[in-house]
Amino acid sequence: DLRGRPRQGGLIPPVLEAIRGTLDAGHQVLVFINRRGFAPTLACHACGWLADCDHCDARMTLHRQPPVLACHHCDKRRPIPDACPACGSGDLRPLGSGTERTEETLAALFPQVPVHRIDRDSTRRRNAFEAILTEVKRGEPCLLVGTQMLAKGHHLPHVTLVVVVNADAGLYASDFRALEHSAQLLIQVAGRAGRSSHPGRVLVQTLHDDDPHLRLLAETGYDAFAEQLLAERRAAGLPPFRFLALLRLESPREEAANTLASGASAALRQWLATRELNVDCLGPVPAPMERRQNRYHLQLMLASDKRSQLHEACAQLTAWLEATPEARKARWSLDIDPQTLS
Ligand SMILES: [Zn+2]
Ligand SMILES: [Zn+2]
Repeated sequence: DLRGRPRQGGLIPPVLEAIRGTLDAGHQVLVFINRRGFAPTLACHACGWLADCDHCDARMTLHRQPPVLACHHCDKRRPIPDACPACGSGDLRPLGSGTERTEETLAALFPQVPVHRIDRDSTRRRNAFEAILTEVKRGEPCLLVGTQMLAKGHHLPHVTLVVVVNADAGLYASDFRALEHSAQLLIQVAGRAGRSSHPGRVLVQTLHDDDPHLRLLAETGYDAFAEQLLAERRAAGLPPFRFLALLRLESPREEAANTLASGASAALRQWLATRELNVDCLGPVPAPMERRQNRYHLQLMLASDKRSQLHEACAQLTAWLEATPEARKARWSLDIDPQTLS
């Protein structure tokens, strides 16, 4: 339970104690944190300024190796300012923890063992990932700090403790599949621990330790969790009990994107009104990140109990877009059975 507890590099005291105990026993520890960089963003403590990206509805991530502010959505980079661009204060501080910061904290707390960071930045060099894995498989006590690059497949027999720094991102996302995906990731990460003769332990940090989904997953495992999720999807009329299609539409001009999306939905609704089809048209709504790379993103969702009827409506929508001159100035795509709503 993260609430009200001091954190070092994102980790609370009882978790740091468990890490110490595992290393003292001569075993390895895997710390899973799904954010690369030093901190999710930089903040001014005098006025509350945050390092926003100029091109996206997103914050820029603070990196220290090498030092730079980088947007993970459009790849724009800029130097780290010495003073707050808004008020001139020099009191700029990193907000939250990424892999680099957790690595730095753990290296300071446990100087007797090596700390290996595995993320997209630390493994850019050819064979860097393999070199670390070879070193880890020798079995000496060490700490691994990594993103989901570490979650899949790799057999790490000497890891007996897995720490999940923050399980909350997927629990309350707007995307209905996020919960399923983050539960699968948790199970995969947990699967790294204790796969040989040593029993493994998994510690999950959360701000919502009473969350029913998380409790179900921790106490009864993935099968019971999946049953529960299926019951909720059935009640909400979501896949796999209904079929979805998602129209994604983007334009550098906000007004053009809005006009085209409204036009498409109006035309489709008009067409549906003349037919006996069981298809719902929802939206248009702004995408979860509306402005990305200076382009405006909108979505229109189609839902139906019958796949054939969904396809009929999709064909109609596609025909309308192809016949509409404004659509040629925008970008659009129609995704049947979308795996994410972003
Ligand atoms: Zn400021
Ligand atoms: Zn950006």
